[in-house]
Amino acid sequence: MPELPEVETTRRGIAPYIEGQEVTEVLVRQPRLRVPVPDDLAERLVGARIGVLKRRAKYLQIPIHSTPPSGGSADATLLWHLGMSGSLRIAQVGDLPKKHDHVDVVTANGYVLRYHDPRRFGFVDWQAEDEAQDKRLAHLGPEPLSDAFNGKWLYTRSRNKRVAVKPFLMDNQIVVGAGNIYAAEALFMAGIDPRRAAGRVSRARYDALALAVKEVLAAAITQGGTTLRDFVSGQGEPGYFAQRLNVYGRHGQPCLRCGAELRRITLGQRASVFCPGCQR
Ligand SMILES: [Zn+2]
Repeated sequence: MPELPEVETTRRGIAPYIEGQEVTEVLVRQPRLRVPVPDDLAERLVGARIGVLKRRAKYLQIPIHSTPPSGGSADATLLWHLGMSGSLRIAQVGDLPKKHDHVDVVTANGYVLRYHDPRRFGFVDWQAEDEAQDKRLAHLGPEPLSDAFNGKWLYTRSRNKRVAVKPFLMDNQIVVGAGNIYAAEALFMAGIDPRRAAGRVSRARYDALALAVKEVLAAAITQGGTTLRDFVSGQGEPGYFAQRLNVYGRHGQPCLRCGAELRRITLGQRASVFCPGCQR
């Protein structure tokens, strides 16, 4: 499933090909995604220009300017979510679509932004005019790589909370992007037992945890950057990547740090692997 690093890698991978470009054609082969593709997608996109791509949590934001961008704000913004199995890659005009290639956005430079999604849990939709009013974005916690996300924030939000620290960290209202893999890895790096009550973790340990979350996500994004060429057609699947992991998926194997056998438990309905030796 595309996580925050894959979405950020996608943003960086496709941006050089489509930013500043005029849209010349829109092809919707399958409109029935998680949310139906808007009826006015082609009408509003063709002739408009694509602005500077942004990302919020796992949403890719594509600003659309009906006149050439002059530093002003976008006239509209497309919100693109990759769901469980979606990917956006760059094809060239003339490249034949494959099965499950549902949407094409063709730009004047001859490239095609092509959306592929076998399970169709992803979607493309217009964002509310005021981002703060968009129901999909309004409740989200801070971006993990921003200064707003730090140990003080985690400490303050966790006081008196009995929920275990791992599901607490995976809550989108606390921070976005700490999916199961990254939460497990960050807790290992910070030496925190995932079962510990969120309200019983000290400020110093939350400082370490916030840094660990930033570190694992930044490493995943950096690693994704090495596969950016895969975003252009003819080079296979897009740049989703397997990171070197310390605990996730390694239950029953020895801890790379202390040699103890890694344990697997269920927390908040999610499998959680941790080291009983290193995490307290
Ligand atoms: Zn260990």
